[in-house]
Amino acid sequence: MTSSYGPLAAPVHPGLRRCHGGTTLLGLAVVAVVALAAAPGCGPPAESVVGVAAAGATDSADLCARIDRAIGHARDGRLLDQRVNGAWQVVHGILAFGDELPLATADGKTTALAWLLDGGALRGWRLRPGSQGVVATIEEGSTTGQGHPDQWIGYLAQCGLDGVSIDTPISVNGNPHTLRDLLTQAQADIRPGAEATWTLMALSAWLPPESSWTSSDGQTWTIEDVVAMEAAADINGAACGGCHRLYGLVQALAAHQAAAAGPAGSERGGWADAEATIEACIEIARRHQQPDGSFSIHFFERPGTSADVFARLGATGHIFEFLVAALDDDRLAEPWVTRAATRLVTLLEQTADVDVECGALYHAVHGLRLYRERVCGAAAE
Ligand SMILES: [Zn+2]
Repeated sequence: MTSSYGPLAAPVHPGLRRCHGGTTLLGLAVVAVVALAAAPGCGPPAESVVGVAAAGATDSADLCARIDRAIGHARDGRLLDQRVNGAWQVVHGILAFGDELPLATADGKTTALAWLLDGGALRGWRLRPGSQGVVATIEEGSTTGQGHPDQWIGYLAQCGLDGVSIDTPISVNGNPHTLRDLLTQAQADIRPGAEATWTLMALSAWLPPESSWTSSDGQTWTIEDVVAMEAAADINGAACGGCHRLYGLVQALAAHQAAAAGPAGSERGGWADAEATIEACIEIARRHQQPDGSFSIHFFERPGTSADVFARLGATGHIFEFLVAALDDDRLAEPWVTRAATRLVTLLEQTADVDVECGALYHAVHGLRLYRERVCGAAAE
């Protein structure tokens, strides 16, 4: 699980995996809590202190204000640097912020998305011409490059609030292409049994749900075939507890239902499999939710929590992102989801001034951005 959360998993240069804490402090109380949390031998973070603050802050306007501060801090207080961070970190940042993510370079501050699309250099960002389009090299385990097939286009297709267009120009070794060329190559390369989680994110965002094509080994595929393959694949053993697999299924099913809305329960085939898997995992997430509102650090496998604030941030943020994508407005307003949002923003506050693993950070922030868009209205972030 090369891209799973787990900040303590591998001894790598901290700048390559971590997202640096900023100098903007969110408040003296937060500083005190972080100081306690960071001090060796002091045990777990001062949950009771934060818990009291959070319990009194159930008012939705207050929650929305806290979410906005956390989002702003993640975007501007943790400036990614092209000379320090790798593509894995930067693309996760783009997932959260789209074309709003700043990037420091030797020539000053720029926009991370524009930097990559214009062919700017970044460790781990390796694209080359392929037989059917453009290949994005997989560097499994590098912690700087693409960790899974089509992870780059999956996240570009889903980034920010609306994703980017399939026709977005991209420079590859100085030659003009579009993101469509990466998807065309992905469609040619797909095989039965593949990990198609991120491929599905791009397919469902960029092509009509009833699309079909022929892969380079001569097999005919539909998006429903990919959905069926992903729905039949293991959840618990998948990257990040299966959250990305579930998110891909949610996006594919949503696109299908938007194009061909039928009565509830009328889905068939791969779409029905996806719906069943999603519903089962929503219920498991709810049942495994901890008393403090966080989700299980064992994801959908079994309930559990940890004194490690980073483990709770990783699991809660990943599951929250899936849930926000999956739940309709009524279910998003249920108290257990509000408790999860409150705990997630508390976890971000607790870690505001320390380095955190970028996958955990940006999936959490992406989930909160999607949440605030639907729950908090049009107030500025
Ligand atoms: Zn992840």
